[in-house]
Amino acid sequence: SSTKGKPLARRWDDLLTPETKARKGSTLKAAAGFLSRPGIVSLGGGLPSSSYFPFAQLSVTVPAPGAFSERETSQSGVQLSADKHSLQTGQSIFDISTGLNYGQGHGAAQLLRWVTEHTELVHAPPYADWGCNLTIGSTSAIDMALRMFCAPGDAVLAEAYTFPTFVEASRPMGLRTVGVPMDEQGLEPGAVDGILEHWNPAAHGGARKPRVLYTVPTGQNPTGATMGEERRRMIYEVCCKHDVYILEDEPYYFLQLPTYDADATTQTEKASSHADFLAGLIPSFLSMDVQGRVMRMDSFSKVIAPGSRVGWVTGSEQIMERYKTHVDCSTQGPSGFSQIVLFKLLEEHWGHGGYLDWCKYIRSEYTERRDVIVRACEKHLPRDIVSWVAPKAGMFHWMKVDWKKHPLAASWTHQEIEEQIFMAGVDHGSLVTCGSWFYADDDVEEEQMFFRATYAAAPFDQIDLAIQRFGEALRDVFGLQN
Ligand code: PMP
Ligand code: PLP
Repeated sequence: SSTKGKPLARRWDDLLTPETKARKGSTLKAAAGFLSRPGIVSLGGGLPSSSYFPFAQLSVTVPAPGAFSERETSQSGVQLSADKHSLQTGQSIFDISTGLNYGQGHGAAQLLRWVTEHTELVHAPPYADWGCNLTIGSTSAIDMALRMFCAPGDAVLAEAYTFPTFVEASRPMGLRTVGVPMDEQGLEPGAVDGILEHWNPAAHGGARKPRVLYTVPTGQNPTGATMGEERRRMIYEVCCKHDVYILEDEPYYFLQLPTYDADATTQTEKASSHADFLAGLIPSFLSMDVQGRVMRMDSFSKVIAPGSRVGWVTGSEQIMERYKTHVDCSTQGPSGFSQIVLFKLLEEHWGHGGYLDWCKYIRSEYTERRDVIVRACEKHLPRDIVSWVAPKAGMFHWMKVDWKKHPLAASWTHQEIEEQIFMAGVDHGSLVTCGSWFYADDDVEEEQMFFRATYAAAPFDQIDLAIQRFGEALRDVFGLQN
């Protein structure tokens, strides 16, 4: 990759917390640097000898490139194996004896390199000194980032409806999460600007003007909202204006779906080449980050498997170096089993192109599921009280219910009606989640009511059935004819 002519990232000494600044990293891991001296005999680090790892070989069966379905994998799947000493024998650059031993907090160099190349390929960050660090998933990355950038008493901005784990990680750290109004494309730039421009600490428990924005730009959880390119540029600009650092949480980035077409019976995957596929994706904040003010979180959870517990963060060298001091003394790198298996799959089997093909495959599967749920809604839901926008990414369908039309709207609270609808859904055999479970703010003026349905997990025919049942529940609650 070329860094020539690219600017250096801004420094963040003014933002980092005292905890993060005080971190010196791991003394023992620093000593490991000397192990690369030829001929040195280590009596230093407490690395167990790999002779005592009770695994001589690991093997997994995975899809051949281009034959990705479960059925095809059972017929033409390819067996990948990792041996204990293939590094010594020159058969591979990664093996069991290395992968299962202690390593650096940024993860095994072999997998880290793949992830860095992938990031260059997909996002090409426009500044010179960026880097990646493996994580054990974005949940952990959020926790580490909050410790790095937010001190107790600080406020953090987020979408008005947000990923609950972010709120649940923030509050016990003494942080205030502040919701920003959203539309179909997520965060409204004018609203972000307004909140920052007119920030009054007294109205926020004394919190200083926020310096951090947490956002899920693609297929946002729970609203399914996706920011277009122009929207992202506007948000980035507002963040520059108010010197706000961006935590970009993007587990659904590759689940960008073609626009819903009510008339099409099936949607075929249109992008043919890898270049077309990449060019068709909405550019990330990272890809427009000329200042190094974004820490992007990627995760294999939604495109490979959540239990792999592997993801990565990307940011400026200063931020990555600080990040590593956190992980070195906490999670360390991801599990060696995961790293070995992912390395075999991504580097030695699929390669970058094969992985993009896999992402295209996953995306086409989600397109079909999205189409099924939206069609089911068109068929089964009472349109005069429920409305929605077909999701353009991710795995969430966000339904707005006009609760003011409830027969008891004048005497019942928002919460009572929301709960009644939720329970009626359960009683009819359909489980959705309540919008109020996702509030960023702790006190919200409850104007609107939403329910989230995911089309990620249920079998196709059951998605339709579940929506039909939710429709029956709504008709019951609102006293409408079935
Ligand atoms: N506690 C003690 C006392 C240790 O010696 C070690 C390993 N050197 C650890 C914790 C770290 O354990 P783990 O690999 O499970 O994080
Ligand atoms: N961030 C968002 C917005 C999510 O929706 C999720 C999963 O639900 C996560 C992070 C968790 O990701 P991980 O499995 O990488 O910790």
